[in-house]
Amino acid sequence: MIRPDTAPGAAGSAPAGAAPQATAPPIGTTIFELFKTGPGPSSSHTMAPMSAGHDFLCRCRALPTSALDEAARIEVRLFGSLSATGIGHGTAGAILAGLLGHEPAACPSGLPAQLAATPEKIHTVSLGDRCLPCSLGDVIRDAVVHDFPFANTMTMALLDARGGHLLDMEYYSTGGGFLQWKGWTPPERGTPRHPYVNMRQLRERLKETGLTLHELILENESAITGIERPAIFQRLQGVMEAMHDSVLRGLEASGQLPGTLGVARKAQGVHAVAKDLPYTVDRFLGRINAYALAVSEENAAGGTVVTAPTCGAAGVMPALLHAMRHDLNIGGRALREGVLASAAVGFLAKSNAAIAGAEVGCQGEVGVASAMAAAMLAHARGYAVVTLENAAEIALEHHLGLTCDPVGGYVQIPCIERNAVGAVKAYNACLLATCEDPKQHMVSLDAVIRAMAETGRDMNAKFKETSAGGLAVSMVDC
Ligand code: SF4
Repeated sequence: MIRPDTAPGAAGSAPAGAAPQATAPPIGTTIFELFKTGPGPSSSHTMAPMSAGHDFLCRCRALPTSALDEAARIEVRLFGSLSATGIGHGTAGAILAGLLGHEPAACPSGLPAQLAATPEKIHTVSLGDRCLPCSLGDVIRDAVVHDFPFANTMTMALLDARGGHLLDMEYYSTGGGFLQWKGWTPPERGTPRHPYVNMRQLRERLKETGLTLHELILENESAITGIERPAIFQRLQGVMEAMHDSVLRGLEASGQLPGTLGVARKAQGVHAVAKDLPYTVDRFLGRINAYALAVSEENAAGGTVVTAPTCGAAGVMPALLHAMRHDLNIGGRALREGVLASAAVGFLAKSNAAIAGAEVGCQGEVGVASAMAAAMLAHARGYAVVTLENAAEIALEHHLGLTCDPVGGYVQIPCIERNAVGAVKAYNACLLATCEDPKQHMVSLDAVIRAMAETGRDMNAKFKETSAGGLAVSMVDC
């Protein structure tokens, strides 16, 4: 058996998680680790599993010929929330797509869902000169409760004809499409030019340097990745266009979403009604709702979205971004700077709590997305960082305790409407922060992120993307 500890494959990632110690390394997550383009419906259950399948394929291909000659089949086992809700989230189809050579960023829109729709079909995994049959039946749903260090765990094995193990890997989907594995070490990269572990330190760096938040994020990005500013701008433009595209595609689409719930798309209808509402404010909020529904419906259908910070919460940021561009007439430069500033909130939440429904419930997905969107709007409108922080704090504070209870394991109910509510809440949080005296604001962003981490730790597992509690049960029982 070969169990490599280093990565020949493509997955790459950054650490997730636990609350930082005083000596914690500075936040090193990059903009394009946070904002990833790929197929829905779930960053943790679709994108990361696809990356794992692709990484395993690369590792198999790197084996010596003597091992490949013995190879007979691949077996994948899903644990935790991946086992509980993997069917509704399209996990098996995503892993199969990865094993067939696809990576999330370049995966044809809807491919995992198409693969999942033909469970009996036998596919061919190419390991160079050796080809292996593989189907959805090779992806096995194992224990929901387990002892692995991360909630969302996958094991993958290359087996010989007698069931002997030629290669074993243990992958962890740590939220937001981030992937780690047993023996994983953070990729070699530069250190941030302006190090910080929490918002208090970030404020200090801003004060010391006199930089704006988006400038500081840019300088850190270049220092960490070695990528120059023009290339960052070009890639960020691609991310922002992918967000706008997902709004437009969703507004054009109609019909029923995949799965057994029979959920009909409603973004198009809401958009049409919103246009004719009698009050200006209703028309505006109605359009934000429609934009968020559009992206979340695309996500539920397995279409291409941007993790912001996750697929499940992918409708919030694009809804506000689209409204800022088309309804509030905010210019391209301010939009870009707002998106850069929003990344800081995502980094802080990911580093000091978590952004996975399976780790902390939906407060870490739609709650963090709403906080990021509120920060984006405040920054794009030129408010000081204290107002941005307060806007993000308000948005997250009023998502605290929000559970993850997707009905039937599909990222549809309550997820789609929840994105619309999160987007409108982000707008209101920004409004509240800009109308109040910042000196009267009592709760810091660090405090609310700590509260989210603690609430998530104490949250019962049935409310963490297992579809074993909450609406997932009560709606079925009705
Ligand atoms: S309830 Fe929230 S966290 Fe759970 S799957 Fe839906 S969007 Fe994601």
